[in-house]
Amino acid sequence: MRIAVIGTGISGNVAARHLCREHDVTVFEAAGHVGGHTHTHDITWRGEKHAIDTGFIVFNDWTYPNFIALLEEIGAAALPTEMSFSSRCEASGIEYNGASLNKLFSQRRNLLRPAFHAMIRDILRFNRESRELINHGDEGLTLGSYLAENNYGRMFVNNYIIPMGAAIWSTDPQQMLDFPAGHFVRFFANHGLLNIKDRPQWRVIAGGSREYVEKLVAPFRERIRLNEAVLAISRAIGRRAAMEMLLTGRYFSAQEAKQLGLVNRVVSLENLNDETETLANQIAEASRFVLSIGKQGFYAQVDQSDSNAMHYAKHTITMNLKAIDAQNGIKAFLNKEACVWQNC
Ligand SMILES: Cc1cc2nc3c(=O)[nH]c(=O)nc-3n(C[C@H](O)[C@H](O)[C@H](O)COP(=O)(O)OP(=O)(O)OC[C@H]3O[C@@H](n4cnc5c(N)ncnc54)[C@H](O)[C@@H]3O)c2cc1C
Repeated sequence: MRIAVIGTGISGNVAARHLCREHDVTVFEAAGHVGGHTHTHDITWRGEKHAIDTGFIVFNDWTYPNFIALLEEIGAAALPTEMSFSSRCEASGIEYNGASLNKLFSQRRNLLRPAFHAMIRDILRFNRESRELINHGDEGLTLGSYLAENNYGRMFVNNYIIPMGAAIWSTDPQQMLDFPAGHFVRFFANHGLLNIKDRPQWRVIAGGSREYVEKLVAPFRERIRLNEAVLAISRAIGRRAAMEMLLTGRYFSAQEAKQLGLVNRVVSLENLNDETETLANQIAEASRFVLSIGKQGFYAQVDQSDSNAMHYAKHTITMNLKAIDAQNGIKAFLNKEACVWQNC
């Protein structure tokens, strides 16, 4: 079978690796590098070279059994590492690290700060009590409501839970309190973050995470097409036609595919290059600025609900109308004349 895999993150790469053993696989990647969130950069610091991971960095021996098996299969070496949490609040100047008692009180004045002691008590209480949410949690309960209902202190919320959650999920601190409490606590429990002692051993890939990516994609490296974003995948094919395809497995002609809405144009093989070039030239004639707004808008709206998409379109169209190219384009369209773009 000819199979297209979209994306060279861990999901696409593992799928492509398994599928390429028996099938003709092509992998499309929108970005200019292979690996998705796995992204390693070479940095020179004080004369020494370092491979720095800015996306996927660590894994552990509790929750990654399949990943560990994959690393063994492809022969990628891992090294033990430490994971600890540090927080520094610019407003209050409070700073600590959770790795040891000494680092917890690295600012010795916190020994005399009652609010700091209250935060530590709250951490221990949260580790103990929040476990009740693992199996019986109300999925609609947000982290913010849970903490408020259980009277957790301000310092625990602002200097521990919010920065810790925002760091783990690389997310805006403002949004952490809206996070589902059950999911938050399950993640913490699964990764040993509710324990003071019994914690998983964290590991990194020797030489940076890119080392495993190169080994993983080796069997299909030449089948990866970088800088090629897939426009859309459509399932909008009628149920009857879909059932026929499924039950018969027969090949559909290009004309039939067009009738079904699977493709938008059919051209003969000898005209394919010319037709593609004509289409590309036609698009290239338009204003680059207006095209980029349109393309961005398409991607942003395609997965939104109708009302959200309408709201988005209203905003985008208004912004677009401010551009001189958009105004010229509309004028030319209404006057049925060719448009002269300023931003081609
Ligand atoms: C900053 C950061 C740090 C992280 N650290 C860790 C960590 O230490 N440990 C851990 O376990 N997890 C970590 N994660 C989470 C982990 O990296 C992700 O869960 C994982 O990488 C997701 O893999 P994926 O293949 O699903 O998606 P991605 O890695 O996002 O890959 C998706 C790929 O698809 C491509 N793509 C998207 N749309 C198209 C299109 N239309 N056409 C073609 N290509 C397309 C993208 O360019 C991308 O390369 C981290 C995430 C982030 C953001």
